[in-house]
Parts: sequence; structure tokens; C-alpha cells
Amino acid sequence: MTTLINESNPFTNALSQLSRAIKVVSSNEDIIKRLSSPDREIKASIPVIMDDHTLQIYEGYRVQYCNILGPYKGGIRFHPDTNIDEVKALALWMTIKTAVMDLPMGGGKGGITVDPKKLSKNELEKLSRGWVKKLYPILGPNVDVPAPDMNTNSEIIGWMSDEYKNITGEKTGATFTGKSLDNGGSEGRTQATGLGGFYTFDAIRAKAELPLSCKIIVQGMGNVGGYAAQIFHDHGHVIVGMSDSKGGIINQIGLDPKLVESYKKEHGTLAGFPGAINVTNNELLTTATDVLIPAALENQITHENANEIKAKLILELANGPTTPEADDILFARNIPVVPDVLANAGGVTVSTFEWEQNLKGEHWTESEVLEKLKSSIQKQTLTIWDSSKELNTDLRRSAFILALSRLSKKLS
Ligand code: NAD
Repeated sequence: MTTLINESNPFTNALSQLSRAIKVVSSNEDIIKRLSSPDREIKASIPVIMDDHTLQIYEGYRVQYCNILGPYKGGIRFHPDTNIDEVKALALWMTIKTAVMDLPMGGGKGGITVDPKKLSKNELEKLSRGWVKKLYPILGPNVDVPAPDMNTNSEIIGWMSDEYKNITGEKTGATFTGKSLDNGGSEGRTQATGLGGFYTFDAIRAKAELPLSCKIIVQGMGNVGGYAAQIFHDHGHVIVGMSDSKGGIINQIGLDPKLVESYKKEHGTLAGFPGAINVTNNELLTTATDVLIPAALENQITHENANEIKAKLILELANGPTTPEADDILFARNIPVVPDVLANAGGVTVSTFEWEQNLKGEHWTESEVLEKLKSSIQKQTLTIWDSSKELNTDLRRSAFILALSRLSKKLS
């Protein structure tokens, strides 16, 4: 496998991350062969009768990347730029992530190319149910277990889970995770990704020589970024920057994430938030801070801006926000990047707890769920941190090496 350099293709980047890791510690050749392409990739045309009675056809996807460790697991993304290469990259990262967390799950991902903001609720429900109508034969609690991702939430997952049950008669509800609590969801799932990111950071804060109260910038304020900002704020850190797709705001004295959320709800934008200055997303990324948290899309930190980053640590809550070229620049500049396959693994970890609870017919308390999440993600974080020091490599390579060793063991 060669190092590929098309920096904007996330699948190229994901394969490149894999080949970079095996240059540090060689891995079982069969596992590398297995991971060079997905087990299965499916495209489906989803017909939807719109509110004006016209027919629209949407393109939907499911990529089942690798099930060596268990059923395929991964979210479903609704986004206008979603395409098969993005879904393949996300599915490969899921394969690495579940192995990093030592979960009994494989890696998969799904999506639909659509701007959900342009759909009515009725159209969105038809589209969500339509994805299941086309793909239900390849799903199931022991086969493939989807979850939410960008622009999908417990309501959409509820429609999908309901459609799946209606078609197949399956009763455990374990085919979809990220459901609402009254629909078989797990305590702690909604905030799990942001909280998992905080636990990861907390385990290495002192090792990274960062102060007890850090300045934090968060890009993206959806499920992941919104919770992350609130959780870091609640733990005494100072949120100096936040953004959404239209742009960001900076206030060096500190922002209250709740007030920023309600300002956005009222005005539809962050611009003009009292006491803050308006910035573009690129200006936000290159503003001085202790911790930068990308929590939106891929390819935000590239060779073009990596030299301008002024954060002391990057905590990747989005999937794929840093390209391999940027990784090299940041490593040379001694800026640790806590990789997505570890930092945002709280979501899939609690999703796996939800699947387990559904299969066993149990309901765990919030404190049980969060305690399990904290101890498992902090244990993996410390292992990855220590091995990166031993191997003199970055945290991403170290995480991939750990994942590859677990996958190889299971294969042999
Ligand atoms: P979401 O749809 O809830 O929110 C996305 C946020 O990103 C929104 O605030 C949106 O305004 C912002 N955004 C969109 N385009 C942007 C741009 N060009 N620049 C800046 N901001 C932009 O999605 P989410 O569930 O919070 O997911 C965010 C990231 O976290 C994705 O990379 C996703 O794959 C990853 N992730 C999500 C979960 C989960 O449990 N939801 C788990 C692991 C990883």
C-alpha cells in the first residue's frame, strides 16, 4: 500500500493513516489486505413523494467495512456532500474505533445525499423510512446496527427502528441505537460523544502540561460540539470560541454555551452575539487557545492552515478533521492531536451499551453507563498516550497500531 496524497478525499486519507501506522509497527498482512477495501458497499435509490406530490429520488448508502470483531456498527449521515467515498472513510474509521475501544462490534457507516434543512418533517420521515425499506435485508442486531450521525437524531432513528420492526417483526429493538429513552434508548447516549471526548482529554491534560482551567475553542455546535462546549464549561474550562456552518464568534473572557445556543435559536446565526467578535471558520481554527475541538466536518485542518494553528492540543470530536499532511506538520510542531478514533468513541461505546441492554432486556442507570464509559475510554487513552511516547510517534498512529493488533489477534 502506498501513501496517497489526494488530501480532500477522506477515504484516501483513511487508507493513508492505515499505511502510515504500519510503517511504525508492521502488522499481520492479512488484516491489512482485509482493511484495504470494505466487505460490502451498497448504493440505493430512495423514492420519496414530496409534499407537492412530485417524486424525488435520493441516493442512499450503507458500507459494511469489517465484521471481524462483531456486527457492523456505525451512524447514518444526512448531508448534501455525502458520497460513497466519505461513507467508506467513516466506515473504516468505525472499524478502527471499535477496535480501539475493545468493543464487540465491527465498522460500518451509512448516509443519504440530501440537505435535510430543505425537507418538511413529513418528507424527512418518508426519506428515513425509505432508507430502511431499501436496506433492511442487510441489517439486524447480529448483522449491522446503525446509529445517528450528522443531521440525524433520536427522532429519525425512531422512524427507522419502527420501519424495521414493521417490516421484519424483530422485537428487541437492538437493530438501531441512539433511540430516545422511551423507545429503548440508553441513558447517557445523547451526550456520550461530547462527554467521552472530555474524559479522554481529562485523562491526559496534566501529561500534556495543560492548566486546570483551559481556554477551549469548539468548531460546530450540533449534538457533539454543543454538548462538548457545555461539558467543558461545566468543568471549569473557558469556552473562548464557538462556530456553526455560517461562521464563529470569539470572546477571550469566555462564552456561556447556553446563551450562545439560545442566541442562535433566536437569530439563526452566531454573528452579533453580544461581547464577541465575528470570525470565519478558518479564523476560528487559527485563533490562539489551549485546546481546539473540531466537531463538525472532515478536512478542516490541512497542509494549508496547520502551520497557523495556535492551539496547544487538538481534540478531534469530528471524524477526519485533520489530514495526514496536517498531522505531520502538527507532530513536528509538537502539538498533540487526540484522534477521532479515540476522542469521539464515546458515542459508539454507549451505542454498544444500548445494543447490549436491548438484547438482554435491561435498563442501566445513567451513572452505571457513564462510569463504564469513563473507565473504558480513559484506560484506552492512557494506553495510546504511553505507547505513542514509547514508539516516538503521534497519537493517531499509536491508536491505529493498538486497533490493528486487536483485529489481528481475532483474525488468527
Ligand atoms: P450535527 O448535525 O448535530 O451538528 C453538526 C454541526 O456542525 C452543526 O452545528 C453545523 O452547523 C456545524 N457545521 C456544519 N458544517 C460546518 C462547517 N462547514 N463549518 C463549521 N461548522 C459546520 O452533527 P454531530 O452529530 O454533532 O456530528 C459532528 C461530527 O461528529 C461529525 O464529524 C460526526 O461524524 C462526528 N461524530 C458524531 C457522533 C454522534 O454521536 N453524533 C459520534 C462520533 C462522531
